[in-house]
Amino acid sequence: MPLTSVKHAVTLRDLLQSALQQLPQTDSARLDCEILLCSVLKQERYFLYAHPDTPIDSRDQADFNSLLAKRAAGFPVAYLTGWKEFWSLHIEVNQHALIPRPETEQLVELALESTPANTKSTILDLGTGSGAIAIAIATERPDCRITATDISLPALSLAQQNAERLGLNNIRFVHSDWFSATGAQRFDLIISNPPYVESDHSGFITGDIRHEPRLALDGGSHGLDAYRRIIPAGIASLSTRGRLLLEHGHSQGELIRQLFRHNHYLNIETKQDYSGLDRVTLAERP
Ligand code: GLN
Repeated sequence: MPLTSVKHAVTLRDLLQSALQQLPQTDSARLDCEILLCSVLKQERYFLYAHPDTPIDSRDQADFNSLLAKRAAGFPVAYLTGWKEFWSLHIEVNQHALIPRPETEQLVELALESTPANTKSTILDLGTGSGAIAIAIATERPDCRITATDISLPALSLAQQNAERLGLNNIRFVHSDWFSATGAQRFDLIISNPPYVESDHSGFITGDIRHEPRLALDGGSHGLDAYRRIIPAGIASLSTRGRLLLEHGHSQGELIRQLFRHNHYLNIETKQDYSGLDRVTLAERP
């Protein structure tokens, strides 16, 4: 009897193993492969561990391999799957908006600390992008009225879709270049994660951030252009003792505190993120 080679079906385990070899060896390589495979199989991650022997058909293999090739070329996972988890919420993303970062949850936490539950505060989120920050606050503080702005119309429409899909009706979306269209309204709290990366940062050429909108990341030669506009102008849009909370780069804390001092804000304080790095500076309007 002639020997026949028995070709066994490609399993989920096989696919993940060979995928790992195709990505550069980074801390996130395994997680990236798992998330991409889950998105093709439309399964949660536990499924990969519970059923590693599941055979994967050739169409799913091809879809997975094409995502993997894009990831290997530096394209961010969240743009490949179309969503990112932020504050335990499913936020849809596309190339018109920055992918929400875990460290930005610190900004949400501080905004919530400044806004006791059941208060009917007014909150302004400048440069909302995907809407992640405004949406996280809106879910935690349903009585607050939130205005979310962006200079980018496609980003604003993405944010609006996210808010609608999550059933939120306490956010108003305004097309605005920082304060240009927010009018005479004064807010109890203004928050922003503005662009703060220095224009000559190498990441714009070689890093994953080259796939994200430059508008959302590039803060000028020292990364501070947005703060130079937001901090002085914030005075006219904050109520008395209203707070301005700004995310920034880990080495920018002192310069941002100086800008606040220069504009006569009170109780200026920098807070660290979960990695212990300076990440958010907050201050009160006199
Ligand atoms: N934290 C982002 C990064 O390092 C920058 C975000 C921003 O500029 N607002 O990629």
